[in-house]
Amino acid sequence: MENVFAWPERIEGAVSLTYDDGLPIHYTVVDPLLRECSLRATFYPMIQSDLQLHPERWRELAAVGHELGNHTVFHPCRQSLTNPDPRLGELYDLSRYTTEQLRAELEVANLVLHLLDGQSERTFGNTCCNTTLGSAAMEQSFEPLLAESFLAARGSLTNRIARPAQDINLFNIGCIDAAGRSLEDLKDLIEQTRACSGWAILMIHGVGADTHHLYLETDVHEHFIHWLAQQQAIWTAPVRVLARYIKEHIRPAGQPE
Ligand SMILES: [Zn+2]
Repeated sequence: MENVFAWPERIEGAVSLTYDDGLPIHYTVVDPLLRECSLRATFYPMIQSDLQLHPERWRELAAVGHELGNHTVFHPCRQSLTNPDPRLGELYDLSRYTTEQLRAELEVANLVLHLLDGQSERTFGNTCCNTTLGSAAMEQSFEPLLAESFLAARGSLTNRIARPAQDINLFNIGCIDAAGRSLEDLKDLIEQTRACSGWAILMIHGVGADTHHLYLETDVHEHFIHWLAQQQAIWTAPVRVLARYIKEHIRPAGQPE
């Protein structure tokens, strides 16, 4: 064990539900379901999404206690050499971005989100789970940039449960892709989280086949949320809430309080 850390009394593990890309289904279906179950999540909408068309709907999500996390303005990603995404083109290819360019984009997104929710502390959801910009010899991690402006960042797609008592980097926590998983698979993941006193950050895009190419089946999602709400020893909360708790309660082993 590398850190001295414990969840609050009676809590065995933690879960953050994160919903990406600013899809209308997030406020038509996901938010009502979460509210019914008294759960709150993190939404990571890029600014150029439904948020631009219906900002009032996203303001409402924040008003009931969900986190609006930063997912950039234009959703830049590293262009795949083998399977290029035409939407990114050259303009929104992170391997062509400079640090200054990404900083400016993050600041604009933070300003827009602040105007919607009034919050000055939030987390970042790495687009396409990318953690670097530039290419070849110029490729570099943008983690230092995230540390300037955010409480924490979801970071890489590790498909692993974070374990704060062992080792955690709040600016690259690591997440698990929920797309296509079965109810049993999701429940099993939460049981594993409980067993290791961990923190599972689930990355979710669409809910239902017609909402996004990465999606959870509607009934799987609904049953899972109802089941999760019944797990009294699992702390389900936005990334911002859990990251703040960890930041305030963790210290390296051997270091005095
Ligand atoms: Zn995204």
